[in-house]
Order: sequence, then structure tokens, then C-alpha cells
Amino acid sequence: MNATLSRAEYRSRRTVVTARPFGLILDPCNGCTLACPGCVHSVETRRNGLFDWPRGLLSRQRFDNYIERFGPFAAMVKFWNYGEPVLNPHTPEYIRTAKRSLAQTVISSSLSVRHFDADAYVASGLDYFLVSIDGATQSVYERFRRNGDIELVFQNVRKLVEARSRAGSKFPVIAWQYLAFEHNRHEISQAVEKAASLGCNEIRIARPFDVGREDPSIQPATGVEARIVALDMLDVEDYAVNWNRFAGEIDGAAVQRAFEYAWPAAGPDEFPPASDNFTCSWLYTSTVMDSGGRVLPCCCAPAPGQDLVFAHIESDRDLFNSPKHIAAREFFRSGATGPGTPHCAKCTWIPNTPDIDPVHLRHYLAAAGEPEAGEWLGHW
Ligand code: SF4
Ligand code: SF4
Repeated sequence: MNATLSRAEYRSRRTVVTARPFGLILDPCNGCTLACPGCVHSVETRRNGLFDWPRGLLSRQRFDNYIERFGPFAAMVKFWNYGEPVLNPHTPEYIRTAKRSLAQTVISSSLSVRHFDADAYVASGLDYFLVSIDGATQSVYERFRRNGDIELVFQNVRKLVEARSRAGSKFPVIAWQYLAFEHNRHEISQAVEKAASLGCNEIRIARPFDVGREDPSIQPATGVEARIVALDMLDVEDYAVNWNRFAGEIDGAAVQRAFEYAWPAAGPDEFPPASDNFTCSWLYTSTVMDSGGRVLPCCCAPAPGQDLVFAHIESDRDLFNSPKHIAAREFFRSGATGPGTPHCAKCTWIPNTPDIDPVHLRHYLAAAGEPEAGEWLGHW
């Protein structure tokens, strides 16, 4: 119901919305021990103060505040944006809490960390664990994953696979993510073999952002197709089991409050289709919070002169209808700008499909036993 309303409000370009974001992104930890080029943690970006990204760990209080407001409406919660989530020892507890709202949960990590409690991640009910490994040997891997230790990563992947077997669970799905650069393209087949031998479910060959401005020797591979190599894929029945993994712990009061939410009793007339002015889908579907409680509209990082902090979690106001959300939606609807118009008016990266896109929604609703709703929502 929430995703349907979201789509209607997106299509009619409403500036004040009733739907709640169904894609949540949060950083359990803003910091990272690696320093990949182009990232907010790279030596170059930190030296030049290119981003406004203070380090810190997400507190239980801030997490609860966020998940209480948005969790029951969410289809997916991603536990990373610009930080290493595994560095926060409370991350597995946060994942379990999100599962109590029936959201699918995903984490992405370098896993180049000394302390990794694999059993806690398996017990959390986590759906997907993406591990970023862009190479099959240390010398190739560390060209992008600066300070990373590939043997430590492999050891942690093994720990996760073993913990999963000990628990008799198929979750989390372990996906090796391989950003394809010119310098590592020759190791892709070796990486596929290694992923299979470690017990990963899949390996995702992905196209990276261009970081050549910071290091011209690091270039995206040309002619390498982005693809998923299936190694040990699960089927929809498996996902159905994990969708409601902790049936006895469902936060019934929160779900009930969500059903009692003031849904508009309106017909389609209340949502006239907008002119075809382009707009950013994130402003209607997602919200992002960093470990300091800053609420951002999307995965872009705030920077000097780049106004992207739309609200703060400690505010009592509606975090999805902040004055900056409204001003940004108004900018796309009518072109109007004013002193409160945020960075969106200057944004050069404007996605026209939601971050949690129709494919994710279909997958989520199929796991929830509602495949027809998923098909219907498949056209954003
Ligand atoms: S591992 Fe991720 S968060 Fe850490 S420096 Fe690299 S890109 Fe940034
Ligand atoms: S317009 Fe750009 S800055 Fe604004 S929410 Fe969309 S992607 Fe983010």
C-alpha cells in the first residue's frame, strides 16, 4: 500500500507526501579503515576537505528513532553508505530489529577487518552480505582497496560460510562484488573460482564510478559486461522463510500503527499525472541517515557548498517532508528556486528509478507471498 501511494505521489509530483520511504539506508559507522580512491575516506579527499563526513558510530537511540518512524513501511534496509558497518559491534542487533519490521536487510563490507563476529551476523537474520573484493591477489586488490588485506578478507568470508552451516541456515546470501577496472580485469575468472571455493552464492561483476580524477591509473574496465555469475542461488521459497525469520518477535504494535497511519481515502483523481517534468525518484522513495543522525535525501555525501543535510533524527518534525525535501520536490515540479533550495537544483546525478527499484520490490513481494502485487508495481 505504501509503495503504491509512493508511486502515485511520484507520478503526480506532489511536494508534500503522505507515503513513507520504502528504501532505507543508514550507516552504522561513518568511518572506515580503508582509503579507496574517490571515497570520502581517501587520503586525497581527506587532505583537501572535499567532503563533510565526520566519523562516529550509530547509537542505539538514533537507530531506534529511525526504524520506529520508517521500519514498518520499508521493503529494504541497507546498512551502509560511506562507512564500514562491521566496525560497529551493534550492527547485528540493528539488523535483527529491522527484520522485526519485515524489511529485507543488506550489508556491504570490505571485510578487511580484524574483529568479525560471523555467528552474530548469521543469527541477525541478515538477507544479503555483499563483500567488496576487486581482485584475486593482494597486489591487484590493494591498488583500489588501499590498506586492505585480501587474506584477512578470505578468512572472514570462510568464517561467515562456516557460521551459516553451523546454524543450518541459507542466510545471509553471500555475494562477492567485484568492481571491474582495467588493472584487475585479468583476474576475474580467478576470482570466480575463488568465490566458488569459498562458498559464496554469487559473484557480481560491476561497473565502478570513475575515480580517475584522483588516480588516473585506476580506470573502469572497458568492454567488461556487468553481470551476476550464479554459483549457488537460492529460490523464492528460501527467501519466503527468511522474510519473516523471527515470527515470534514481530513488532506488532509498530505494524499496527503503520496500518492506522492516515492513508488518504482518495481515488486516482487526487493524483493527476504531472507534466513530464523530470524529477528525482529518491525524493519520493528513500531516505538516508549517517551515524551522526544526519538525514540525507540520497546516497550523495554532503560537502562544502553541497547542501544535503535535510534534517536531523533528533527533530520531532516529519523527516520526509522537511522544508528542504519540499523545496527540492518543488524545484523539480516547477523549476522554482529560493534561498532554501538544496543541492538538488545543481545535481548532475539524478536517478529516474528508485534505489530500491521495481526488481527489488518484486523480489520482496514475491518473498512475502504477494507476487501479483510485485508484478503490478513493476512499472514505476
Ligand atoms: S571500503 Fe568502502 S567505505 Fe571504505 S574506503 Fe573503500 S569505498 Fe570507502
Ligand atoms: S536530485 Fe541529486 S542530490 Fe537531490 S536527492 Fe536526487 S540524487 Fe540526491
